[in-house]
Amino acid sequence: MRRKLVAGNWKMQGRQASNAALLQSLKAQTADWVGVDMWVAPPAAYLMQVAGLLQGSGIVLAAQNVARENDGAFTGEVSAGMLVDCGCHAVIIGHSERRTHYGESDALVAEKFLKAQEAGLVPVLCVGETLDEREAGATAVVVRRQLDVVLAAAGVAALAQAVVAYEPVWAIGTGRTATPEQAQEVHALLRSRVAQEDEAVAAGLRLLYGGSVKAANAAALFAMPDIDGALVGGASLDANEFVAIARAARAAQ
Ligand code: PEP
Repeated sequence: MRRKLVAGNWKMQGRQASNAALLQSLKAQTADWVGVDMWVAPPAAYLMQVAGLLQGSGIVLAAQNVARENDGAFTGEVSAGMLVDCGCHAVIIGHSERRTHYGESDALVAEKFLKAQEAGLVPVLCVGETLDEREAGATAVVVRRQLDVVLAAAGVAALAQAVVAYEPVWAIGTGRTATPEQAQEVHALLRSRVAQEDEAVAAGLRLLYGGSVKAANAAALFAMPDIDGALVGGASLDANEFVAIARAARAAQ
């Protein structure tokens, strides 16, 4: 049985005061929860602050990005070892905003995936097609390619210690969500691709959906058999909304 997971990607947003207020509310509302995992990914600048605030809670710390390199002369980068040292358990890899705005290629994403796992972090590998790709009927080809590059570099066993997030680019931050059926179709495709390599790994792999998830659409998404939770951007900055999404995940468990 795969445990549902809701992960909040704060993107480049927050300040110490707003982070503290958000976390205080999340912790208060989820203190006695079991049955669903909640992760938060603040900006790198606030990892230490958030690590401190999360102590004693069940909420897990994740990062939004990691360097390809180990420590050294790489100005502005943050290494996997540093993320571990800050208390991170996981790291988002290959988010479409990084692929689009910072030119991250499939090959670079695979290198970052490996680097994260070498350091003991759980990579949350993001895959997803653009609107043009969907309209051209290329969704399956695109997400399979993005997954295959990591499978080739890391091997299928690596996915036993990873999470995959299907995030259609056209649904991220746009208010336009994939329908549960559209998302399920891609999730099933991703799982069956992994099953071709290893059925047990595929059966245990948590596949998150991301793209304008809100309290209002979460339950229908989580009712799908291959949707194991959500990677949530905008709605994760609102404690009540994020808790409501997590509650829907818990109810679907
Ligand atoms: C994301 O940033 O991964 C995301 C899914 O954003 P949003 O929920 O705002 O669409």
